[in-house]
Amino acid sequence: MKKLSLANLPTKIQKLERLSKELDSNIYIKRDDQTGSEWSGNKIRKLEFSVQEAIQQGADLLITTGGIQSNHCRATVAVATYHGMKSAVLLRISEQPPVEGNYFLDLLMGADVRFCTREEYSNSRNEIMAEMAEEYRRQGYHPYIIPEGASNGVGTLGYYNAFHEILEQEKELGIKFDTIVIATGSGGTAAGLNLANILGGYGRRIVAMAVCDDVKYFQNYCHKISLEALPYLVEQGEISQEKADACAATMKPEDFEINDGYVGIGYALSRPEELEHIKNIARMEGIVFDPVYTGKATYGLWNELQKGGSLRDSKNVLFIHTGGLFGLFPVSKSFNL
Ligand SMILES: *Cc1c(COP(=O)(O)O)cnc(C)c1O
Repeated sequence: MKKLSLANLPTKIQKLERLSKELDSNIYIKRDDQTGSEWSGNKIRKLEFSVQEAIQQGADLLITTGGIQSNHCRATVAVATYHGMKSAVLLRISEQPPVEGNYFLDLLMGADVRFCTREEYSNSRNEIMAEMAEEYRRQGYHPYIIPEGASNGVGTLGYYNAFHEILEQEKELGIKFDTIVIATGSGGTAAGLNLANILGGYGRRIVAMAVCDDVKYFQNYCHKISLEALPYLVEQGEISQEKADACAATMKPEDFEINDGYVGIGYALSRPEELEHIKNIARMEGIVFDPVYTGKATYGLWNELQKGGSLRDSKNVLFIHTGGLFGLFPVSKSFNL
């Protein structure tokens, strides 16, 4: 498909031997945490499509938004700067934040950083970004706004593509993954994987572990942006208009499997057992998960694979490691080492 070529693709798939033994299931990990360094993680797959569209529209400034330790904002800043564009990020804070992790990298790479409160973020982040765009337009810039997590129609193409990458890798590895597990925060990763699965009739079980909000919210949101992705797939020649129409008529919010049992005490807040889990896996496999997304999602995966859990029947499980390492350092003091 037509997109920028920025991420290191295809990302490796590795078997986690000790974890597989421990949980009596074949557990594999896809290293989307290794899509790059500055733009590491899952957001770059979406940005390859969003920023392609931005450049096509003649943009010279990218504006986006997220939490103070947003991986998405950091990746967007890196991509903008790499293309000689300016970047501006609207970050949600509750108090004056220390300069560390992703926020430090945003500043290091020269982003114009603006702050907003939690309330402003929930109620009017898109309006604030529109005002920022207006301000920049008056200075002669051509801004392009990317929504939270690049989770919109065009961004959804990133994990639509990743699903097809997984199908290719299955052939090479001689494995079929019956279950794919991911963390979901802004919904675009879950939407893209599910949309490819639905359109191709592949019948895989895709479980999105929520790190905020609830089942209904994510089902509706993933359904909405999947519908918005269909015209892009038609335009890119991936599917016919007839196929898109048929999909739009039959796809339902309930087609998106979401598990909201592991949100814990809230977005970007960790319970001691989640941090213990991150430490256990780090010591068992030499693989480090982040506290906001992959740590919570794999804590959920671990629990659901236990006796009586909802994933007990899964034989070959693929967990997509969506990155987030820079967000681990700011919470290092919370770990019991
Ligand atoms: C953003 C993010 C996710 C969630 O992906 P969405 O597409 O926003 O649902 C998962 N893991 C990491 C590390 C992320 O930064």
